[in-house]
Amino acid sequence: MTDLIASLRQIVGDAHVLTEGDLTAYEQDWRRRVHGKALAVVRPATTEQVAAVVKACAANGTSIVPQGGNTGLVVGSTPDTSGQQVVLNLGRMQAIRTIDKDNLTVTVEAGCILQTLQERCEGQGYLFPLSLAAEGSCTIGGNLGTNAGGTQVVRYGNTRELCLGLEVVNAQGEIWNGLKGLRKDNTGYDLRNLFIGSEGTLGVITAATMKIYPMPASQLTAWAALPSFDAAVRLLALAHQYLGAGLTGFEVMNRFALTLVDKHMPQLRVPFIDNPAFPYAVVLEN
Ligand SMILES: Cc1cc2nc3c(=O)[nH]c(=O)nc-3n(C[C@H](O)[C@H](O)[C@H](O)COP(=O)(O)OP(=O)(O)OC[C@H]3O[C@@H](n4cnc5c(N)ncnc54)[C@H](O)[C@@H]3O)c2cc1C
Repeated sequence: MTDLIASLRQIVGDAHVLTEGDLTAYEQDWRRRVHGKALAVVRPATTEQVAAVVKACAANGTSIVPQGGNTGLVVGSTPDTSGQQVVLNLGRMQAIRTIDKDNLTVTVEAGCILQTLQERCEGQGYLFPLSLAAEGSCTIGGNLGTNAGGTQVVRYGNTRELCLGLEVVNAQGEIWNGLKGLRKDNTGYDLRNLFIGSEGTLGVITAATMKIYPMPASQLTAWAALPSFDAAVRLLALAHQYLGAGLTGFEVMNRFALTLVDKHMPQLRVPFIDNPAFPYAVVLEN
């Protein structure tokens, strides 16, 4: 194992192979319920370094846990307790490589924080529509690894639908450059879609070409209180009928969830919470 650690240090530099000190942020899950122990936390800065790290670990028979913001809620980015796994944290690979305004795409490295990408696109007049509560710390690599959904799935789809191309390091440590921006692509096998949602089991995503959109000229948000879940389904059909592609978000919440928000987040206003005739609520965005 000391040989492996020495090789990893050679690849990414001493400062980016963490083996001692407080590694809690890398070793426990977001809810702090599951605690693992890593052999080392490795923080590469380039795709080539990722490839070299994977090759070194593969040669040593050491398993790797890819990690982005560590905000996934199912312990997929947390090492086990064996002390034998390498956590490969992509947090240093944050570059937004290009924004292609003609093709409406952005090519971004896997460790870029979702909110950083949203803000960079917005600054140039474009919308990157993936949005979820963890956006201040989750990464594009993690969003792709989990095929995250977020609040605008109705209009823009899951992360999968936003992705046109990927750059991936496979389990042998080879780099696959599939960073295409072509929308009307019907060529052969779709490797990209195998990697998306595979939570790092098939390879490490190092960069992606994602769709962006012109910033909408206006936005409307409405809150509806409803007597039943069936009523929410009927409201969705109506919203589709009258708003068409303009409907961007439709989130149903039950009274139990809203009661918890009301209790634990007193700074937030929860409309109609006192009226038991409306056990469901919907947030609509247009
Ligand atoms: C408050 C909160 C709200 C959330 N809301 C939503 C929501 O609305 N919709 C939704 O779908 N999800 C939601 N999530 C879960 C969501 O999947 C994650 O927040 C986010 O997508 C994970 O990104 P991450 O960078 O933190 O990934 P991590 O948690 O670090 O990793 C998640 C998985 O992806 C793998 N992975 C990470 N990086 C890579 C990479 N570069 N290549 C290959 N595999 C990789 C990891 O091994 C792990 O299996 C929420 C989570 C929180 C905490």
